[in-house]
Amino acid sequence: MKVTFPHMGNLYIPVRAILQELGLEVVVPPLPSKNSLNFGVKHSPEFACFPLKVNLGDFIEAHHRGADTVIMAGGIGPCRFGYYAEVQREILRDLGYELEMVVLEPPRGHLGELLEKIRRLTGKRSLRQVWAALQLGWEKFLAVDEVERLSHRVRPREGRRGSTTAAYRQALALIDQAGDIQETRSALARGEEILNNIPRKSGVSPVRIGLVGEIFMLLEPFANLHLEEALGELGAEVERSLYLSDWIKTHLFLDALRWKKKKESRVAEAAAPYLRHFVGGDGLDSVGNTVLYAQQGFDGVIQLMPFTCMPEIVAQSILPRVSQEKNIPVLTLILDEQSGEAGIRTRLEAFVDLLERRRTALAQEE
Ligand code: SF4
Repeated sequence: MKVTFPHMGNLYIPVRAILQELGLEVVVPPLPSKNSLNFGVKHSPEFACFPLKVNLGDFIEAHHRGADTVIMAGGIGPCRFGYYAEVQREILRDLGYELEMVVLEPPRGHLGELLEKIRRLTGKRSLRQVWAALQLGWEKFLAVDEVERLSHRVRPREGRRGSTTAAYRQALALIDQAGDIQETRSALARGEEILNNIPRKSGVSPVRIGLVGEIFMLLEPFANLHLEEALGELGAEVERSLYLSDWIKTHLFLDALRWKKKKESRVAEAAAPYLRHFVGGDGLDSVGNTVLYAQQGFDGVIQLMPFTCMPEIVAQSILPRVSQEKNIPVLTLILDEQSGEAGIRTRLEAFVDLLERRRTALAQEE
């Protein structure tokens, strides 16, 4: 069995470690690119969600490199995510690709089903081996999130443009290469050291921007046109409302046990005056996190969504009211295969400029 899985930011680092630790042969697709996207766009329905097209491109690229099994997340709820894997399965079959799809769905209290599918992948591996693989993967999830958070703080203060991105990539490579938990911890420490040693400008006070929106657009730099890098280099400090390890904790472990995570209920409470129920995907979180960012004194919020994303369209229709009542500027960016980096860059420059001027004006009023 040669397994592959879709890209979503740094997901490939811990997932590859888990699968290799389980003794599986892993084919990591090349990082998403114009080339893989072209495959996805060519073979997907025009109005399919943008992430579906990017992922389909990943699978085709992986198949060309020998993969025969795809591990894909499934979904439930009112948006189209529940159909994703089925649609992709059909498309791949029509193309004549012999790819088996193993769809892992959020357990929602039925842990048994999920474990059964995992069992298909792990075969005769003992529980101890599976547990050891998961532990290594978890350590890598925490490590990649940690260096990513740090890069967000360092980038707007860097003395030489691009130095944070280079150091961040170096840190990720160290974590990727680590062979066990101890090595992962050392790689994290070394990565943090490299990022912390970047020469910084003194006396800068960057505007702070919260990022909300659909998970794939938030986590995958190719899909969001490297927005975090662009904002950091424009002098803004970003904080993302979602990191991989948070998502795993909430949607796999706590969900399986039907426990609500504290942060999740805090987000739902913050959203409640505007939106009281789950609308699929991350729509409710986009509203709640925007309120929380306003309460925490952030200068602005950017909502990221794929074109035609239903949950984010709901959030988008509510955010102007949140923006007005909570007095926080909100910019919505709708992205798909037609979006170009130059156009987005111009809008980001204008937004950061607006936030800086607004901050100066508010300071003068005090
Ligand atoms: S959250 Fe949006 S982009 Fe993701 S599957 Fe649902 S509708 Fe599509």
